[in-house]
Amino acid sequence: RGRLFHYDEQILAEREAPATTHARHDLERRLRQALAEQALELHYQPLLELGSGRVGAVEALARWHDPVLGPVTPGEFIAVAEESGLIVDLGRWALAQACHDAAGWAAGPSVAVNVSAVQLAQRSFITDVTDALAGSGLPPSRLCLEITETAAIADLCETARRLNELRAMGVTVALDDFGTGHSSLTMLRRLPVSVVKIDKSFTGRITDDAADATLVRLVTDAAHVLGMTVCAEGIETAEQAAQLAAMGCDLVQGWLIAPAQPGPQALAAWLRRHDAGEGHPQPAPLPLG
Ligand code: C2E
Ligand code: MG
Ligand code: MG
Ligand code: MG
Repeated sequence: RGRLFHYDEQILAEREAPATTHARHDLERRLRQALAEQALELHYQPLLELGSGRVGAVEALARWHDPVLGPVTPGEFIAVAEESGLIVDLGRWALAQACHDAAGWAAGPSVAVNVSAVQLAQRSFITDVTDALAGSGLPPSRLCLEITETAAIADLCETARRLNELRAMGVTVALDDFGTGHSSLTMLRRLPVSVVKIDKSFTGRITDDAADATLVRLVTDAAHVLGMTVCAEGIETAEQAAQLAAMGCDLVQGWLIAPAQPGPQALAAWLRRHDAGEGHPQPAPLPLG
């Protein structure tokens, strides 16, 4: 059995490794070209405040449709961008584009932009944020940066220092995908964030799994004790939203409210329908606390 396994592995390695490497290089080359041609787009997904029913913020999500490969998911191209260093250019573009779009929604919701740990570690990062704000005229109070823990943050002290610098500018910082990967209570304690986004791998099963419900409640309570706001990701049913409201969760995001809207105009149209009380099923307003 051991030999057979070894043999299979060897065949797999010989047959698939070159192809995989080739596909990876091809994806990297196409992504570099797409960035140069400004062919990526930002879609915008609303975050709903459970207390008021208002849209507190919208999250910018990168989309890429390659002419040959078709749509490539962020799960695929963000990983390639992080490994190749292209994430620095991609991130700078996303920041500038999101600030520009949000500046167009006068007095509208804040915009949340995803930032990978690789990008945050760059010396130029604070300048990129300052430039995006200055270039668009967006007030810093309407920008939120979602720090995603795909790679372990090597230097917590240095990261905390940078995040404090951003906070001093008036920018909001959120810890994304809480409960997955490298994110931990240590991060919550040591990083100066004011929003915690609980990952859908936890929020997805709260109506069926008592242990997941307990964990989400504990994280919500802990975040509130630390003075932070809590957003639940991946909310697909009214039952989930009602349960989160009962737990005192502040914001929900997910297909129940709206999927990511394809561009700033589609978002503006969605916001108008939302303000008029039309469209998506509103989660029942529950008394908080
Ligand atoms: P994220 O920041 O946690 O974004 C939320 C993801 O959940 C998005 O996936 C969104 O489309 C998806 N989602 C929203 N509501 C629901 C729902 O009700 N059910 C389910 N199953 N999924 C839902 P998406 O757009 O594929 O992006 C995946 C990840 O890629 C993002 O996760 C983020 O980490 C990363 N990403 C996307 N755009 C950027 C970017 O511009 N820069 C960086 N650094 N990362 C990005
Ligand atoms: Mg995010
Ligand atoms: Mg997330
Ligand atoms: Mg996620």
